[in-house]
Amino acid sequence: MIESIDSGDVLRTLREGCCRGLGLEHQRILLARTLAGSARTAAPLLFMAERTLRDRLAQAEDIILVPLGLPRDTALAAVWMGFHRECCAAEGWALAEKSAIFPARMT
Ligand SMILES: [Zn+2]
Repeated sequence: MIESIDSGDVLRTLREGCCRGLGLEHQRILLARTLAGSARTAAPLLFMAERTLRDRLAQAEDIILVPLGLPRDTALAAVWMGFHRECCAAEGWALAEKSAIFPARMT
């Protein structure tokens, strides 16, 4: 999917591509998918239908990646979340640090 794009350019674009419009729910499900390994395994942990989760993940990827000129891609979105831990995705990471990404784990 991204074979034709220079990987250094992609990483720079992801790192510099701040996106203040990504809401907490989208941040949460992006982290949930990464932590769970896949949408299929994340969905039940979120008490969410897999189809619903996939739709929301696609929305999040549209919000983050499309304005940067990048394709919708699970791995690219995950890398973006890592780069923007201190800014755009700080709220989501704060939930992760409290182990509150998955409702079932809330105490
Ligand atoms: Zn940012």
